[in-house]
Amino acid sequence: MNLQNVEFVKSAARPGDFLRDGLPQIAFSGKSNVGKSSVLNCILRRKNFARVGQKPGKTIHINYFSVDKQAYFVDLPGYGYAQVAASEKERWGKLMESYFSYCELITLGVLIVDARHEPTKLDVVMAELFQSTGRPYVVVANKLDKLKAREIEPNMERIRRSLNLEEHTPLIPFSAEKGTGRDQLLAHILEACKA
Ligand code: GDP
Repeated sequence: MNLQNVEFVKSAARPGDFLRDGLPQIAFSGKSNVGKSSVLNCILRRKNFARVGQKPGKTIHINYFSVDKQAYFVDLPGYGYAQVAASEKERWGKLMESYFSYCELITLGVLIVDARHEPTKLDVVMAELFQSTGRPYVVVANKLDKLKAREIEPNMERIRRSLNLEEHTPLIPFSAEKGTGRDQLLAHILEACKA
């Protein structure tokens, strides 16, 4: 799969807009500002492909990117931005509920959390959503470069515990800034696309 050959396909705000053409879909989710765009850009080795630092909560839709016409990277809307109106939160919830009700569409889930912090309530909700699909998913602990070496292991354990991760669910220490964990995440993505 040529990761250079990537293009934006469409935004979806309702189930009727969801892509369901049978190609593998890698669904990325994470709270606003966790570095979801940066992780996507890191995988694609692009600087500004998936927008970085877009106003959190401004756009509640799902963005589809085609990767070499062989798979889709599905950018799920970020969550947990404090200043978002209740109506927007509800829209987010409804859209997530709809997307996850088509769980056969999800080839691999990628939940991105902050390596520094205890997962938020919504991170836990997302982990439960991915778990409920019965589809494989991985958890990416981003911003690892901001941790001291001795903090890494306890933080990873805390994330695993808080999200109730099953033993077989990979937790990937990651830094979009440094490229740490990129190969490991990419290997999971490529393997899921092949299966
Ligand atoms: P998004 O809202 O989840 O898409 O987050 P962005 O990709 O826009 O990143 C939010 C902020 O975190 C930006 O200032 C990024 O430069 C920063 N950031 C993202 N990934 C990393 C990382 O691995 N390490 C560090 N130190 N900063 C990061």
